[in-house]
Amino acid sequence: MIRINEHYLKLQASYLFSDIARRVSSFQEANPDREVIRLGIGDVTRALPQACIDAFHRAVDEMADEAKFRGYGPEQGYQFLREAIAKNDFQARGAEVAADEIFVSDGAKCDTGNIQELFATDIRVAIPDPVYPVYLDTNVMAGRTGSFVDGRYQGILYLDSVKENNYVPDIPKEKIDLIYLCFPNNPTGSTITREQLQSWVDYARDAKALILFDAAYEAFIRDDSLPRSIYEIQGAREVAIEFRSLSKNAGFTGTRCAYTVVPKECMAYDSQGGKHAVHALWNRRHCTKFNGVSYPVQKAAEAVYSEEGKRQTRELVDYYMRNAALITRAVDELGFHYVGGENSPYVWIGSDRDSWEFFDQLLSEAGVVCTPGAGFGKCGQGYIRLSAFNSHANVERAMERIRRSLG
Ligand code: PLP
Repeated sequence: MIRINEHYLKLQASYLFSDIARRVSSFQEANPDREVIRLGIGDVTRALPQACIDAFHRAVDEMADEAKFRGYGPEQGYQFLREAIAKNDFQARGAEVAADEIFVSDGAKCDTGNIQELFATDIRVAIPDPVYPVYLDTNVMAGRTGSFVDGRYQGILYLDSVKENNYVPDIPKEKIDLIYLCFPNNPTGSTITREQLQSWVDYARDAKALILFDAAYEAFIRDDSLPRSIYEIQGAREVAIEFRSLSKNAGFTGTRCAYTVVPKECMAYDSQGGKHAVHALWNRRHCTKFNGVSYPVQKAAEAVYSEEGKRQTRELVDYYMRNAALITRAVDELGFHYVGGENSPYVWIGSDRDSWEFFDQLLSEAGVVCTPGAGFGKCGQGYIRLSAFNSHANVERAMERIRRSLG
């Protein structure tokens, strides 16, 4: 008899985006003349940078020519892309990362979800709340949690990210083995200072723990005093893995390209206390289960690091950050407590009402779709997330409507 992995039965059905879609469609049915503006989801809206498009086309033409055609490539990614990443995203900023420590993939979602496979099932895991749901659900699937009780899985240490700690979790009192951190954060848009990140690295070194640092929104950081990579922090190479994505900075959400950095010094331990390089484990996993990102996509990704690609991606990010400024200005004027929007495309807005009530009010009064914070964890209750991924015109109109309905 074929049996299932019963840990899947513990998973809470993710009703968040289907609930949003249901409420929006019933609103539209009842109000066919009202146009809805969507500031809910975290998907980009603008086209790929021209430098990427040109490189993409050239690479497709190569694939059409038998002399230049390429079949399977290296699972870890082509050297041209790994070198461009190491040089531009790390070495240029003084962070020591070598090309062979970069694993190119088809998404930070897959990588942040798959990485936990390398570690024992009885380790202690700390996950922020609110958070990008992939970290939690993949640990549930792997059997690292108990049941879901009162809005939380037993066995996980939740790192509350709340107004009181400025949405940066406090260092745990107990010893934890695996720690997820995400900055700039989805959904709160909060950032972490160099000193705060240093404390986490120091904690991890002391506890022989590992930090999984998700920097998918690094490109949105405007404040030069903030770390863009965990490898800018002393001692991080031994205790941290970093995830990056081209989804949000270069519009690759549909094209798919991301990468994970595993430094050679990064260690994990067996039950006898023996040390093992995580790089070798991830390399083994990656080569066994993944066959590489397509050549044209990697050529398009390489173009992000050309002079024109850098300028065009900067313009893309600037475009969304102008939207974020429109959102924060309106929210400020309305007197709401909020975080984010300065170094991130998300604005996290607090109120004294239930997240879904707030959602319904914005939809019915302003015709604007947001994301209810409660969908990202218990600490998200009372909040909504507005996303800057839309056109200027739509964001301007959405903020005008919100001002009129809530002002
Ligand atoms: N990490 C965070 C925090 C995200 O918000 C997202 C996407 O929204 C991802 C990772 C996924 O990125 P990718 O498109 O590279 O899979």
